[in-house]
This record gives sequence, C-alpha cells and structure tokens, in this order.
Amino acid sequence: MQKVVIAVSDEEKVLIHKDYEQLVNFLEGPKSKISIDDTDREQIRMAYELAVDAHSKQRRKSGEPYVMHPIAVAQICAEEIGLGATAIVCALLHDVVEDTDVTLKEVIDQFGPRAGKIVDGLTKLDGLYNKIDEQDTYIASPQAENFKKVLSTLVEDVRVVLIKMADRLHNMRTLGSMPRHKQLKIAAETSYIYSPLAHRLGLYKIKTEFEDLCMKITHTEAYQDIEAKLKATDQERITYVKNFIAPLQDSLKETGIDYRITGRSKSIYSIWNKIKTKKVAFEEIYDLFAIRIIVDVPKKKEKQVCWQVYSIVTDVHTPIPERLKDWVTTPKSNGYESLHTTVIGPGGRYVEVQIRSERMDEIAECGYAAHWKYKGVSNQQNVYSIWLDSVREILDNEDSDAIEFLNDFKTNLFKEEVYVYTPKGDLKILPKGATALDFAFSIHTDIGYHCTAIKVNNKLVPMGYKLQNGDQLHITTNKNQKPTENWLKMVVTGRARSKIRSAMREEKRRQGITGKEAIERKFQHLKIDFEENVEILAKYYRLKSRIDLYFEIAKERISLSDLKNIFTVEGGKLVRIPEEEPAVEPQTIQEVKPRKKKNIKGRPQLLIAGEPGDSYNYSLATCCNPVLGDGIFAYLTATAGLKIHRTSCPNATHMMANYGYRIMKAEWASTTNTSFIANLLITGVDDGPGVIERLSNNISTKLGLNIRSFYIDGNEGYFEGRVSLLVANKDQLNLAIINLKKLDGISNVVRLED
Ligand code: MN
Repeated sequence: MQKVVIAVSDEEKVLIHKDYEQLVNFLEGPKSKISIDDTDREQIRMAYELAVDAHSKQRRKSGEPYVMHPIAVAQICAEEIGLGATAIVCALLHDVVEDTDVTLKEVIDQFGPRAGKIVDGLTKLDGLYNKIDEQDTYIASPQAENFKKVLSTLVEDVRVVLIKMADRLHNMRTLGSMPRHKQLKIAAETSYIYSPLAHRLGLYKIKTEFEDLCMKITHTEAYQDIEAKLKATDQERITYVKNFIAPLQDSLKETGIDYRITGRSKSIYSIWNKIKTKKVAFEEIYDLFAIRIIVDVPKKKEKQVCWQVYSIVTDVHTPIPERLKDWVTTPKSNGYESLHTTVIGPGGRYVEVQIRSERMDEIAECGYAAHWKYKGVSNQQNVYSIWLDSVREILDNEDSDAIEFLNDFKTNLFKEEVYVYTPKGDLKILPKGATALDFAFSIHTDIGYHCTAIKVNNKLVPMGYKLQNGDQLHITTNKNQKPTENWLKMVVTGRARSKIRSAMREEKRRQGITGKEAIERKFQHLKIDFEENVEILAKYYRLKSRIDLYFEIAKERISLSDLKNIFTVEGGKLVRIPEEEPAVEPQTIQEVKPRKKKNIKGRPQLLIAGEPGDSYNYSLATCCNPVLGDGIFAYLTATAGLKIHRTSCPNATHMMANYGYRIMKAEWASTTNTSFIANLLITGVDDGPGVIERLSNNISTKLGLNIRSFYIDGNEGYFEGRVSLLVANKDQLNLAIINLKKLDGISNVVRLED
C-alpha cells in the first residue's frame, strides 16, 4: 500500500472512531459469538489507540487513512470469523511492526507474549510479500516460498492464518484502487492459495466471496453477465421458494421447533463453474439456489430433529436417494455439519435442501474458529488439530523445495481425507486417493522402504491399493527390500514420494561408484584435474548431476573411450573438438530468432509494460489464443521469449501465483490488423447433415469469417462441434457467437478457454 503524508483530518478522525465504536458495539452486542471482559475491552482500546497513532502518517492507495484497514480487518475477524479478543487486538496491530516505528518488543510489553507471537507471524508474512515486488534475483517461486512461511506460522497458532484471511479479504474487497496487473496477480494468489485454504479451514463464506471477487477481476464479463441474469430472475426465484415452503409450514409448526428457512441463490462463481463443466446455458441450470432449514435446538437434540425435518420435507417433496448426504452423523474433516438432500420440487425442478442447527450453521458460515479453544490442552479429535498435525508433517519434510511443497500441499491437504487404522486400532488420516504404500511410509520411513506385502482387513492387496475409509492395514517388511522407480507410480503423498526419490538417489550413488573410479583413472591418465573436468563431461552429456554421469558410465551407457573423438586436452582442460560446421552457441540462435520474427506479417502490435513491444520477442499463447480486445498479460518463458495470454487463460492462475515476477503488463496497440484464432464450442440438437452446412454457410458467407477447422461429433440427437475461426477482434467474435446462437437447432455457443 502506498503511503502519502497528508495528515488525517478532523472529519476523518470522526470516521475512524465511528468504525472503532462499531467494532466494540458488535462485540458487546447480541450477535457476537464471543464474550469480552473488562481486561479484553481495555486491551482492544489500547491496540486501537496504538494503531491510530502508529499509522497516523499513512494512507491507503484509495486515499483513506491507513488505520481504517486494520480496523476493518478486526471487524471481519469479529463478525465473520468469530475470533476472540486476542485475535482482535492482533488484527488491529497486524501492520504496525512491519510498516511503522512500533517494535515487536513494545507489542509484547503491552499485550503479552501470545499477541506478540501472532503479530510477529503476520509481520513475517507481510514482509515477504513486500519484498517479492522488489525482487530481481532469481528464486524459483517466491510465492511458493511465501506460502511455506504462511503454513509454518499456521501450525504455531492457527489465528495467524485466520487473521491473514481477514486481511486478504479486506484487501480483495478494496482492490479497485490498484492497477490492473496488480489486481490480477493478487487475484491469482487468492484463488490459488487463500481460497482453497479457506475451504480447508471451513470458512465457506469467505471462500465463496474470494471466488466471486477473483472471478470479477479475471472474468469480468462472465461475472457481470451472470450477475445481471440472477437479478432479472430474482422475483421468479422468490415466488418459487415460497411455493416450495408453503406445504411444509404446517407440519414444521406442529413439531413446536423453532426454525427459519432461507432460499438463497448460489454464488456467481459456482453457477459459472456449472455452466462451464456441464456446458449448458444459464437458463438451463435449474438448481440456482438451495433451501436451508435451520432449527434452533440444544446440541443433544440436533441429530434427531434434523432427521425429523428431513422426514417432513420428503413427505411433501419426493427425494432423490443418491443425493442424500449425512454430515450430521459424520462431520466433514473441516468441521462442516449438515444434512443435505435433493428433492423434486414444484414444476419437477430439482431443489437442494440443507437441514442443520443454528450451531452447525454458524460453523458452516464462519468456520470452526469460534468453537476452537486456544488456551490449554485442545481436544484430540478437534478438526483443526488433526489437520494441523498433517500440515506439520509436510513441513517437516525437508527434502522438498518450495514449489514441490506447494504442490504437495495442494494435492494432500486441500483434498478430502480417508480414515484408516493400524493393526492396534490407531487412527491414521491420509489424503483421499492415498495408497497402501503411502500408509506404510506414513507409519515410518523404514517400514515404507522395506515393505514387501500389505494386508487390508486381512486380505493381501497390491501396494498401489487405494485406501478406503475404515480399512485396517497390516504391513510385512523385509530388510532386503528396497524402493524402485516403479514405486513412484504407486504413491500420491509428498512424504512417500520424496522418501522414495531420496532412496533411489542413494542407490544410484552406490551403483555409480565404479563409474566414478573409471573417470578418475581416465583423468589421471590424461593428467587433468578431476573436479573441473568432470563438470565439463556432465554438461556435455546433458546430465543433471555427477551422480547421473557416474551411473551412466557404470551402466556402460556412456563409454569413456569415445572421449578422444570429442575432446582434446588443452592446458589441463577438456576442450571440444570443433565439428565441421562452426558450432553455433544456443544463445545466438535465440537472439537471431526474434529479429526474424519481427518482420513476419501478422504479428499483432502490442504495448509491453507500457512501451511499444517491438523490441521484445513475443508471440500469442496457443493455450488460450487471445484475440484483439481480450484482457491480456505477458509471461516471460525460459526459452520462448514472452507469451501473451488471456487474463482468463486456464493457466493464468498457476503462472501468476507461482511466477508472479515473470508477469509483465501487456496491452493491444490500437492499430493492429492481424487475424486471430478463436475456438468455439457449439452444441445443439442434431437434425442431420444439414447442421454442418448451415453453420459453415453462416460463418463464411453471412459473417464473412474464415474457418480453420471444423469438427463435429453427434450422439443420440445431440451434437458438439468445435470450430476454429479467424477473426479480426473480439467484437467480431462476439457478433459471430450471438449470430450462431440464433440458428435453429443450436442450444449454446461458447468460446473455448483452451
Ligand atoms: Mn494488512
């Protein structure tokens, strides 16, 4: 956030104080999930005063006094996550150590060691972020490094990451004043890391908002389109929900249970996802909303009452048995509890009904945080503590670098879990999809290494057997057994994978000893230095390491007797014998290429980082085929110069979240006259061969566009066509889509993202 020194005015001081009072009023009010005592009240006031004072000379990019940000973050912590006084103090102070003269020691002196630790965690996270922007030295992925830090602090105190979520949420809500390329980068990081993390922590409401806010930035048009359509059909939905509920009311009243019913539409992002995955139009999605029946009963009676309500609902509306999900009896591993069913409502429409208690609703909306006990010994079966244990396990794996770690994390910890047992009956939790061999490695590295046979529920299974809930496993080991390359295909957890890899490296090293000795003898004979020349040799054969070189020689796949044909010795060093044609260094080839390319007719004119892009070697990415008018960005590849992607490219999130520093701003120059490739997916009702003719006729004659390719696939009265077109710009493309949609027998036309 930019800091400009304009003193806070008196009016602003009033506004700031109003925000603070709103925070305190909430905490004292009936909606607060926590209670505060006099000490808490005093600490929060002190934190507020310290923050106001410390940030007094700073403003946000939007121009408002900086301190409004920490106050807003504290409000989110209280109102939307249900965190207690310590967290609110820390939220108020989350930026003071990083951005102002206040020291960590002062925070500890005033607010105690716990608060100090949390603020320190938040400071470290922020510090890293700020440094990333200035980074010019090469780090494989600063974002991934950073994420590893996020999680290391998370295991110390989960509140660090919960406050970080609130911080990110407020920044996302107020992203409007940031330049576009920063918005994209922040959105990518949010959807790549923060939104799955929010999901994992059971913060559904925040996760949903993250997704919608990200989509608004990366797929603005699609977002606005769905938003408008939802608005237009709002009244219709309200009426439908009324008709759905009406016949239930009497039976529900008879039970004497306090309840409320809501019928909310699903999030824009989830509707969009459905449109994409099911390849249907908005109008064809029937479950745009879910009905929620929330009962107010003591915890003891929750389960019984939920099933009672289920019975009432299904007496009136016919249920679809496969859609019944009972997370009341067995909650999800992130703490989610609810009873879901889908029934056939009025007009034959499918309607999802969620039945839960007020307590369950609170957990579903705000996550487990408000129910999480921070002080003293926590409950062993607590959802957070089980999950935190597995986070710790991944963090302990020192072998993996940050990118691998991030991938491990995404595959292992964001997934649902599978619960299995040791022979003694101890519970082990592994990610869904984990295998019997993963289980062996999760018990102990040596058990994994020497595993020869695995029994599940007393029956022998292959090592790659996918674990099922409730499986009890028994492992047989043998000292002579060792991992092979093949084992890598039978595991999914990062822990097992990295252990197998390191065992194989060790094995390679062992087997390569004879290769190393052969080189030593050869070099001694040639009277040249070992260290220097072994590198030259490894490089020549394009091997990753010396160990690979030793191994290849030991396996006789590389012969040292070839050496004399390739190298001569000059000044104690191996030197390549020149080949007949003068060797061209790879680098010169790369430099020549762009100059040639520059003159190729048809390269669109771009502005890169605000300057004419002539001097850059750039080309349009084929994964998303940008068209003049699309939102775009440039990505610096390792070997192929800059690639221009659409901001909505399916790979964009991954690139921006992992390699944000390689992203450059790119814009279309207004005078480009090139053709662009656009791929369309056309679906419709098959009415024989006529459809192809009608489509191609319409495209080439009526719209005057060139078709590059056209594939069509029909199946039981339904067809799917893939058309690749050449268009001049996005307007032309949109016009084509609108026109094709109007044709008879066509149900939908969408531009493909890849
Ligand atoms: Mn902040």
